[in-house]
Amino acid sequence: MNLPIWDQGTGPLPLPLEGTVRAAVCVVGLGGSGLAALDELSKLGVAAVGIDAGLVGGGAAGRNGGFLLAGLANFFHETVVLYGRETATAIYLQTAAEIQRQACEQPEIIHLTGSLRVAADAAELADCQLQLAALRASGLPVESYAGPEGVGLLLPTDGVMQPLARVRNLAARWRAEGGQLYENSPVRKITKGAVVTASGTILCERVIVAVDGRLEQIFPELSPHVRTARLQMLATAPAREVNFPRPVYRRQGYDYWQQLPDGCLALGGFRDHAEAAEWTFATEPTALIQSRLDKFLREDLKVRAAVTHRWAASVAYTTDGLPVLAEVRDQVWAVGAYSGTGNIVGALSARAAARLACGQPSAWADLLSQARTYCGRNGRPLGH
Ligand SMILES: Cc1cc2nc3c(=O)[nH]c(=O)nc-3n(C[C@H](O)[C@H](O)[C@H](O)COP(=O)(O)OP(=O)(O)OC[C@H]3O[C@@H](n4cnc5c(N)ncnc54)[C@H](O)[C@@H]3O)c2cc1C
Repeated sequence: MNLPIWDQGTGPLPLPLEGTVRAAVCVVGLGGSGLAALDELSKLGVAAVGIDAGLVGGGAAGRNGGFLLAGLANFFHETVVLYGRETATAIYLQTAAEIQRQACEQPEIIHLTGSLRVAADAAELADCQLQLAALRASGLPVESYAGPEGVGLLLPTDGVMQPLARVRNLAARWRAEGGQLYENSPVRKITKGAVVTASGTILCERVIVAVDGRLEQIFPELSPHVRTARLQMLATAPAREVNFPRPVYRRQGYDYWQQLPDGCLALGGFRDHAEAAEWTFATEPTALIQSRLDKFLREDLKVRAAVTHRWAASVAYTTDGLPVLAEVRDQVWAVGAYSGTGNIVGALSARAAARLACGQPSAWADLLSQARTYCGRNGRPLGH
């Protein structure tokens, strides 16, 4: 079993790439990021096509926890240290605005519930206080929280979503506007001007590779700065014995869960309990991590409902906590490695890649390069 709870039926019949196709831009990877890049290209009036090795949302974008969190992978106070207060604040504001934008775009599947960060111990509670102070010092919304989930912080501008529905809806909109998406078409070779699969070629002026996990497999030159890990989750039948109105983050974000409107619970985490083994390209759930999730589900969350789904997927991490957004080869752009939180950062970064690939300015790209410069000068790598 490696099926996310989000997969409640198939999408349209996949169209594999056959023969030669021409477009100004080819986007490789049809998760939330690749589809955001295609949307931005369409707004710029650029003819583009998308291609994926599997199905739309078949990667992490359709198999994640569904959290929509403002900021980067590191907590806000950590980003202030790493990237400087001004840049960290501007990045946070852009991600909060992107959450709002996505919620307006798909109100039926995105809910602005806020999110909780709860402390697993006294040291984490002290860390929550640092996060609270840093957010307040930048005028960003945050509240102290104490409730049945634990003690920590309430981030009121965050939200949750059904992740696979989000990407399938984006793909449906792209197709409805006449756009082409090729699925079940693993890309074997990317060169300036051509994206090649076993049965076809896309001739294009520019390529944007929007792949999170396994990015360093496509671009070995990004290794070891970029490294792929497996993240695992499970989900239950409706669990009426518990009530979690908001998504919850715990243990520095290692563990996370949300309860769906129908009462089902989606729980992920415990990667650090087998950290060496979880730095892998494999995407099958493992007995060890799943047993940790089971234990936490039963003993800490007190959920009795049966486990109905278990799944895993790949994401990539960077040593500086900043996503990759770069022209890695002539006219070939790479975007990815969101260090475990790509639903919002991925969309922003992929839109930025689309703009840069077309010679347009991007405020998000400018912020990331400011952060990278500051981090290179003053920072120290952090990461969860
Ligand atoms: C279990 C789990 C929980 C998570 N929880 C959250 C969360 O709650 N909130 C959050 O913000 N983030 C979360 N993340 C991270 C988030 O899911 C990802 O960062 C984000 O979805 C990445 O989206 P993407 O479109 O960039 O990449 P992906 O969704 O991974 O899409 C990349 C696509 O590229 C395709 N591809 C790869 N190689 C090739 C090739 N050679 N040729 C053609 N196509 C190729 C893949 O098939 C895939 O469909 C989680 C991730 C996991 C795994």
